[in-house]
Amino acid sequence: MSLNIHFVRFSSFFTINTLPAGRTVCKRSHKFVFMKNPADINFRKRLALNLHNKYVSVEAELHELKYLFWECTLRCNLSCLHCGSDCRTSSEIQDMPIADFLRVTEQLKQHYNPNKLMIVLTGGEPLMRRDLEEFGYRISEQGYPWGMVTNGLALTESRFRALRHAGLGSMTVSFDGFESEHNWLRNNAVSFSRAVAAIKLMVAEPEFVYDVVTCVNPKNFSRLAEFKEFLISLGVTHWRIFTIFPTGRAKINDELKLSDAQFVELMEFIKTTRKEKRINLSYSCEGFLGSYENEVRDGFFFCRAGVHIASVLADGSVSACPNINHSFIQGNIYQEDFWNIWDNKFKNMREREFTKSGICSNCCVYDCCRGNGIHLHESETSGVQVCHYNKLLPK
Ligand code: SF4
Ligand code: SF4
Repeated sequence: MSLNIHFVRFSSFFTINTLPAGRTVCKRSHKFVFMKNPADINFRKRLALNLHNKYVSVEAELHELKYLFWECTLRCNLSCLHCGSDCRTSSEIQDMPIADFLRVTEQLKQHYNPNKLMIVLTGGEPLMRRDLEEFGYRISEQGYPWGMVTNGLALTESRFRALRHAGLGSMTVSFDGFESEHNWLRNNAVSFSRAVAAIKLMVAEPEFVYDVVTCVNPKNFSRLAEFKEFLISLGVTHWRIFTIFPTGRAKINDELKLSDAQFVELMEFIKTTRKEKRINLSYSCEGFLGSYENEVRDGFFFCRAGVHIASVLADGSVSACPNINHSFIQGNIYQEDFWNIWDNKFKNMREREFTKSGICSNCCVYDCCRGNGIHLHESETSGVQVCHYNKLLPK
């Protein structure tokens, strides 16, 4: 693993200073801007953020791989309205043979303790593959923990047992509200009941690591409090919320986007729910959230794409987080060693210099945000498509 000291740009002690009346001076632009709650950030939090920024820089330099996603199929049994990968029931790209992916993980054992590197299966829908059990046995033999992200539609009890036997240690199930809202978004009349069945299986499993992930949109927004009670009644302890980002099918569907006022309300809902301690709720990894930092998630914003996260896509391409645009692909396992790609490429992800364009070029909180999650950029030159911080500013 290379350690290039010049690679990391350590941030200045404070990027922004708050003046008494809620006015703020931006050190980048030297202009006064008006900044009041909810996006204002208090002094203590700024200190903590400053330390966190340094931590992010060091982690980027070390780039220790902690999560390796495998897009094990592009086939899917649903056709969700918000799908980021725009999958099909049958895909033109064949599923990658297990052996090809295992060559990557075998090679990684020379560099990492496999017990500390999580392998996560995504798709498409992983359960479309009939050979997941074989994969599970073989990846467990190599010493890796593994899990998957699923819509739960095809998860029967016998399949769950077989996968558990093959070492499945964690699972994320997508669950987007009550029956009408979930089935609308998932575009399938039985998807809700199947998701509930899948959730009941994982909730009942001792020592199983899981979470339920909900895409919050205008249709399920007004019933979130009720939905929380429903999840608690199912025994769910870990719940994660994300909001739509403009990619795949979601790009053309305005019905899916929350207004800025609703987004602020959502942050308040998450904050209040976390204080209640009845269910462990957090907002997804994307977006610097100003004063809500460390209050709606465990820890501060950190887009780990290319720093701790890599993915092997269905055609062998190597990317950072599986959610990001294909223009950020760094190589292909059929042409180059995965390790070479991981260790020597991804410079753009680790430095993030390319994000300093458009609205981010003159941003007062850039050092805390670094241009938001990479999945919110279409390319290195597109500029960021969504600014969460801006949603929180008073309009
Ligand atoms: S997305 Fe860009 S403009 Fe918005 S807070 Fe982040 S760096 Fe600033
Ligand atoms: S690219 Fe987006 S989804 Fe992926 S780690 Fe970064 S913030 Fe999270």
